[in-house]
Parts: sequence; structure tokens; C-alpha cells
Amino acid sequence: MAEFLDGWKRDCMCAEVDAERVGKDVTLFGWVQRARNMGGIIFVWLRDRSGIVQVVFDSNVLDPDTYALGESLRNEFVLAIKGSVRLRNEKDINESLATGRLEVVVQEAKILNRAETPPIYIDDDANESEPLRMKYRYLDLRKPKLQRTMALRSQVMNAVRSHMISEGFTEFETPILTRSTPEGARDFLVPSRLHPGNCYALPQSPQIYKQLLMVAGMDRYFQFARCFRDEDSRADRQPEFTQLDLEMSFVEPADVQTVVEGAFARVFRDVMGVDIPLPLPRMTWKDAMEKYGSDKPDTRYDMTIQDVSAFAPGCGFSVFENSVQDGGIVAGIVARQAAGRFSRKEIDTLGEFAKTYHVKGMAWLSLQEDGTVRSSFAKFLSDDKLRELTDALELERGDIAFLIADRKLVALTALGQVRGRVARELGLIEQGKYNLFWVVEFPLMEWNEENQRYVSAHHPFTMPMEEDFHLLDTDLPNVRAKSYDLVLNGVEMGSGSIRIHASDLQEKMFGLLGFTHEEAWRRFGFLLEAFKYGTPPHGGFAFGIDRLLMMLTDSDSLRDVIAFPKMQNASCLMMNTPDEVSPDQLKLLHITFDADDAAAP
Ligand code: ASP
Repeated sequence: MAEFLDGWKRDCMCAEVDAERVGKDVTLFGWVQRARNMGGIIFVWLRDRSGIVQVVFDSNVLDPDTYALGESLRNEFVLAIKGSVRLRNEKDINESLATGRLEVVVQEAKILNRAETPPIYIDDDANESEPLRMKYRYLDLRKPKLQRTMALRSQVMNAVRSHMISEGFTEFETPILTRSTPEGARDFLVPSRLHPGNCYALPQSPQIYKQLLMVAGMDRYFQFARCFRDEDSRADRQPEFTQLDLEMSFVEPADVQTVVEGAFARVFRDVMGVDIPLPLPRMTWKDAMEKYGSDKPDTRYDMTIQDVSAFAPGCGFSVFENSVQDGGIVAGIVARQAAGRFSRKEIDTLGEFAKTYHVKGMAWLSLQEDGTVRSSFAKFLSDDKLRELTDALELERGDIAFLIADRKLVALTALGQVRGRVARELGLIEQGKYNLFWVVEFPLMEWNEENQRYVSAHHPFTMPMEEDFHLLDTDLPNVRAKSYDLVLNGVEMGSGSIRIHASDLQEKMFGLLGFTHEEAWRRFGFLLEAFKYGTPPHGGFAFGIDRLLMMLTDSDSLRDVIAFPKMQNASCLMMNTPDEVSPDQLKLLHITFDADDAAAP
């Protein structure tokens, strides 16, 4: 039988036992991290969410038959103790514990609850398999690191919320049972009992609601929004995640950016003690692609891309010549003083890696310490042309260049990936550095090969740049959007845009995206209509709280920063979700499953 508190009140957390309390009495509650009986004295490490303190059951103080307990203590028993704080003997000091110079001598104790041997160790360094940890997530969460992360998560949300309120925003909740919003992922659907054959969709984001709140004159909206996206299990995605979602009326991009970067700076200052100078730098999408081959570049290291197309015509190497002739480019990166770091085999592996980004191949060129050239293609080049290339790349002795010739965006994207991989392999990425900046002026639309049509780069509500309006009908791929992403150390933290606030332009946009007039009105008629009743110019942003936490805690996975995450295959092993439901429930929902599909997960 478990015991009750019987009026005992905690007056100190384990980690709060400090030198100032020496000689004072404390009442502590917690779990047994470990218990050791050392000849008449039982040393127990008592753990609560604040940390660990040693409590001492001494047979000189307590009844030697029972130690005030009447049974042996085992790991994860839940204890209540009253005792007095004392300094440890010099030789017993344990510097690995924050409270390691002190201990609490037990005067009274009781076992509030017992525990069976836990299936996982409550220790940050324990390395159980992830499925086991997830099955027993409530025990996994007892580990100090996860306890700290969850506390940090709350602090971060608190800092963000205070910032938003101080900037004059109002916090809202928008429906979870809603209709599909086009954020580019698959919807989770909820079949309706009352409307046979119809489904709600869980929101991929509150995008349309927040825009309607601007129509409603709410002026500044924010929400910690749970978003649901049924994406194929890619590394580090969660089917549900939390975004700080915001929307503002009467704004230009810089107004939204000021609010968002203020929130980030506040989080970094309050939570990490790191000062982020504001305003944040801005980089156009075009520059990001041309210099870094990525729309979310990691700028903690250089090794920027150099376009050497000008050297290609007549260079003698047909791969380069043809690429430029066909309207493509030749570009490369130079790893300084790294020629000796890549064996032929490693260069080949890197080339294969580049090919996974749809380029035909990768060429390379290194200048050895003795001035000789090694290269996959230099033999085709005249001395003059070789010099022209090494000059263009500013190649010095000891450097190695990796070059790609292909269609521009394809070549740049592959080089961006090669750049990242080379930087990781050479250890060029400076840790503890936070490079936070804006990427702006994304293309409005992207061509989708699979569906043979244009799709929105951000979402269909994004406003084109006024300067590019005239290109909408003639040169769609070159229309830039009033959109912006926030990037931290090569990771996209969030995105936003100024929205279309005119019904006719919104309708035109749906048309450019391939919707017929009828389709557009059937799916988004409520929005097109709403825009007719006096909609203010507006714009907003959303950033992932989980991803931010991951960066702040230097975690490897979103699963490390969410209390109850899903596994990569979107299941929860603890609750066994998703699960079968009874035939009666399905019948009420007017659903039948094919027997073949209904295999247990
Ligand atoms: N709804 C967008 C998203 O979830 C963000 C925004 O445009 O405000 O990415």
C-alpha cells in the first residue's frame, strides 16, 4: 500500500540544499536514484526535477532495525524525508553533484510508493534503444536532461509569449476541426458522424483563420499553434508540431521581421544569455543560391560557390563547354589547404553524393604543395586555360576545388550539398556560433515536374513583389514574392510573407496555380468573399518551437524536445497509437475498411 502525505509539506527541492541551509531542517520529496548500505549507514541519492542530493539514513540516529522505513529501498521508490542539512566530511565530497559538498541526515522518512525494477535506467548516459525509451517515455522523461529540456521549453514559450504581448498582439485559439489548408502536405482527416461521407481536416497551419482575423480587424494575432501534416516519414519530422504563428495588419516585410527577430533575440538573451545584434542581416534568395547553393545557407563557414562559366567556352573539356553552351553554368567551391585530406576514393564518394542531387557528375582539381596539378579534367585543358581557371578560383598550393557543370539551379543546389558535406568532414563548422539572418525575395512559384504545373513556393496567399507584377502573365518563374525565411546555422526556423488582400488578385493566383474558377470558389470561396468586405493589407510569419528548442539544446532529434513525440513511422509505442477501433465506432462514422488494409500497426 502506498502511503499518504499526511500533512507533510515540501519546503526545499533537492538541488536547493545549499551551504546556507547547513544546520537547518528540510522536508524533501523525491525518487531513489540509488541506495547503498555501507555498514550501518544507508546513503541514498534522492532525485527530483531540480537535481539530486544525498540523504543519509544513519543507524546511530534512527532505529537500526528499520531505519524509519522497515524495508530496503530500491531504485525509483518514492520517498518523503525530514532531516537536517550538514556539510560532508572533506573526503566524502562529490564534485560531480551540484550538492556534492552537503548531505541531509534523515530524522523521519516514509515510503510514499514502491517501484518495480524500471525497464530503463534513469540516467542521461544510459543508451537503451529508442523504441524501449518511447514505450516507457514517462520513465525516459525522468532523466535529468529531458527534465531540463522540458523546463527550457516552457521558458522559451514564456519569453516568446511575453514578447508578443508587449508588442501589442492578442493570443487566439483557432479550430482544430477545420478544412484543408494548402501548406503543401497531406491532411489528417477526421470523418464526421453527423455528416455522413464528409471529413474535417486537422489544420496544417491556421493560415486562413489568421488572415480572416485580420479581415475581422483584430490587427495583431498570435497563437502557439499545433499543426498537423501527414508527411512521409522523413528524418526528423513530426506529424504534429508547434509553431508560433503570427499575423499583423498594415505592414511591410520589415515590420513583421522586426517583431520576429525581437522574439528570437529575447529568447537567446533570457534563456541562453547570448546577445543577438539586431536588426538581423538580410540576404536575397538569389544571393543565397548563387553563393551557398541553398535557400537556408549555413554561413558559419565560407567556402562560397564561384561561378567560372566565363572560362568554359573553348576550354577543351567538352562537359564544361556544352553546359555553358546549353545555358547552364560551371561553378565550384574551393576547400583551402585541404588537398591532402581527400583520397581518390573519398573524392569519388563525394562525386557519387553530388549525383544524388541530379547532376551528371563532379570534376575536381587540386594544386599540390610542389605546384603540380592533379585533376579529373586538367589533361583536356591548355596551360593558358588551366591558369585562367586556377586564377578565377584563386587556387593556391594545397587547395582543392570541386566543380559542377549543369543547369544553373541544379548545379548550385548540388554544390551547396557538397559544400556542407566538405565542411562537416573538414570540421570547418564553428560550434557555439549562432548565425541568424533573413532570406528574402523567394520566387513566387516553382515548377513541379511531377504534376507538370507551377506550385506556390510558400503558399497561394503570398503577395508577389510589386516590381514584378508585370511578369505575372509573361515570365512567372521570375516573379519574386514578398516572402521571407528566418535561417539559423543552415536550418530554416520559419517562414512568412505579406499576403494578397484583394479578392481579384487572389483569384488570379489560384488561376496561375491551375485551379479553375469553379474549383477556386468551391474550395476558397469563403476567403475570396471575405476579401471583398474591406480587407487590410497584412502579413505574418510562423516559426517552429520544436526546431528552435532543438537548436538551443543542441539536440539531434525533434524527439528530444517534445514530451510525447511520435516515432519516425508516426506511431506512439507508449499508447499504441494509431490503433484499431471497434466496428460500432466505425459504423457510426459510416466507414468500412478493406480487410487487407486493416492490419495491426
Ligand atoms: N502558414 C505558414 C506556415 O505554416 C506561415 C506563414 O505564412 O505565416 O509555414
